[in-house]
Amino acid sequence: MEVIEKINEIKMFRLKLTEPVGFVPTMGYLHQGHLSLIRRSRAENLSVVISIFVNPTQFGSGEDFDSYPRDTECDLALLEKEGADVVFMPSAREIYPPQFDSWVVVDKLAQRLEGANRPGHFRGVATVCAKLFNIVKPTRAYFGQKDAQQVAVIKKMISDLNMNLKIITLPTVRESDGLAISSRNSYLNHKERQAATILYRALTLTQKLWSEGERDARRLRQEMTSLLKKEPLAKIDYVSIADRETLSELAQIISPALASLAVKIGSTRLIDNIVLR
Ligand code: AMP
Repeated sequence: MEVIEKINEIKMFRLKLTEPVGFVPTMGYLHQGHLSLIRRSRAENLSVVISIFVNPTQFGSGEDFDSYPRDTECDLALLEKEGADVVFMPSAREIYPPQFDSWVVVDKLAQRLEGANRPGHFRGVATVCAKLFNIVKPTRAYFGQKDAQQVAVIKKMISDLNMNLKIITLPTVRESDGLAISSRNSYLNHKERQAATILYRALTLTQKLWSEGERDARRLRQEMTSLLKKEPLAKIDYVSIADRETLSELAQIISPALASLAVKIGSTRLIDNIVLR
């Protein structure tokens, strides 16, 4: 397995890779969620490229860029075991040299939900993904449904800007009590970890009501909100029942809808979602 830090070097190495090339962009501190993407990429492609880059431009001021968990040694050992061909681990300066001045902005779609709560977040995400796609030139790139809006934004960018790759989305990998696995779960203390199950319980409640025939999106948002409010450690950022593609809030559910939420447990901000279909 090659570990490469420089853009020029990975571009050269890319020329030698056998097609098709699968690509999994990550911010490292790898867990079972990441591994599910890497394994699928390994199964569907003849070459697998992983990137590890904690992208500074997708963090707002006051967010957790500095404290974001990092463990390169452990990540590289895992990737070696998973059969990655090459790991791209650039520095921030390599991706954003001092004169850097071009940004990719997906407009309306990126203003909702996470975008409304984290201004500039998706500008950072879209820009770094566009750069990584241009550098790696993958046949397919793999993303988790855990970050549903991220997938929607990336797909929109690819379609609007005629980029030549396919996005594959894989289901959210969960702990046995339903909590979506996330690098940020490592911030939670014991009490907060228990409280964090409230996110999945709220989504499960929505799923149940929807299965029983409830199609009033306002009622579903209310039910999720009142359950979340029962958890004293939880502070709601948003609770949403939105159209799966446009992410605009729904009144009635007629086509597949995305139930999503962002909740702070103590000082840790967690997101999760399910699709109602
Ligand atoms: P991150 O390192 O958090 O930027 O995540 C890298 C990729 O892994 C993204 O496409 C995420 O959506 C995906 N991912 C993160 N957590 C999970 C999970 N629990 N299940 C599936 N995919 C995930």
